[in-house]
Amino acid sequence: MDVFESMGQIAHPRFLAFVPGPSNPVAALADIMTSGYNTAASLWRETPGPAELELTTLEWVKEMIGLQNHADGAFTSGGSVANMVGLAVGRDAKLGNDMTGAVIYCTDQTHSCVARGLRILGFAPEQLHPIPVDDEHSMDLVALSAAIHADKAAGLKPFCIVANAGTTNTGSVDDLNAIADLAGEHDLWVHVDGAYGGAGALAEEGKRLLAGMERADSVVIDPHKWLFQPYEAGICFVREPGLMGHAFASNPEYLQDVAEGEDEVNFSERGIQLSRGLRAFKLWLSLKVFGAKAFHAAVERGVKIARDAEAMLRANGRFEIVTPAKLAVVTFRLTRDGLDENATDRLQRAVVDELLDDGFAFVTSTELNGRTCLRFCTINPRITDADLAGTIERIVRFGDAAEINS
Ligand SMILES: *Cc1c(COP(=O)(O)O)cnc(C)c1O
Repeated sequence: MDVFESMGQIAHPRFLAFVPGPSNPVAALADIMTSGYNTAASLWRETPGPAELELTTLEWVKEMIGLQNHADGAFTSGGSVANMVGLAVGRDAKLGNDMTGAVIYCTDQTHSCVARGLRILGFAPEQLHPIPVDDEHSMDLVALSAAIHADKAAGLKPFCIVANAGTTNTGSVDDLNAIADLAGEHDLWVHVDGAYGGAGALAEEGKRLLAGMERADSVVIDPHKWLFQPYEAGICFVREPGLMGHAFASNPEYLQDVAEGEDEVNFSERGIQLSRGLRAFKLWLSLKVFGAKAFHAAVERGVKIARDAEAMLRANGRFEIVTPAKLAVVTFRLTRDGLDENATDRLQRAVVDELLDDGFAFVTSTELNGRTCLRFCTINPRITDADLAGTIERIVRFGDAAEINS
């Protein structure tokens, strides 16, 4: 128990930090079964049943988030690897083996795993060109278009745009339709990172914000975030059939008996793992038990809790809203009379430390527009008004008690 008690309760309703992991017990049971049977979903000839189940689960997720036009997909350990998989497929499709002069676009709000993944894929850091964001922290498309033209004029080879479908910081979504249009003009690969926000498509607000996601070449979503699964579960979808298989094909002599037949899928050729477990089963079983409607309702609830939290913060009178509720994220600053901006930054960090000591709720800070702010991520559908009220009351109380001077 020393181990299991010595950790943040990531599935707890008052874990409002980072991106929480509001898991569910049915999925945990499924994980016990897959490990008990030592289930693999790798080579079709070896484990056709699990592979078929993974294909079915991928179809269900596609239907839920509106990606029916995406041909191929595979589960991964999480968003970091799923992003790398999508980018590796894009590189293979657009560049082959020649990465010289290739340019990838993102924003300063893009998750750090994208830059790390590109580094592992062999791109130099200078090949990733961050595009400025607008007031809503979404990619500035005028700047993007100008950068593509300038890079082409300089003899570089723009090949990929990484678009955000729900940034970790603020929940902001890039204009996915406009990005797809621009990519079409320049023959660029569009990769959408919806690790946390992709599931937002199950809610009305998300469906509106994520319009155009289906036009992306590759899309990432993390079931272990807003589809309520235990770690580990990410997914990468690719629109055009066969590209995943091409990017990851390998046929060593010891696997000569297990080449894919027609309608057979070797998941080992849709990513970087040969031996791989059946991560799809937990999502399959939770969807069977709870039904897709319950998932829609739970995601809708996360969006509503963020709006409620924003309303409570505004009503309290001591907070400045930095970014309004969007896809279950709201960011804000506690204010205190007589403190300048720098001291107010320190105030936020002092509150985070005090909350951590207190243990009632877990809230973390981030930086936006050069200032420190606090952030709630409300994807856990079990959060109550009392949870929010108790957390806000403590933030004010701990902030007032903190020794901060300008
Ligand atoms: C969490 C997150 C990731 C990384 O996913 P992991 O599952 O933690 O590897 C990537 N992008 C976004 C937007 C995320 O929120």
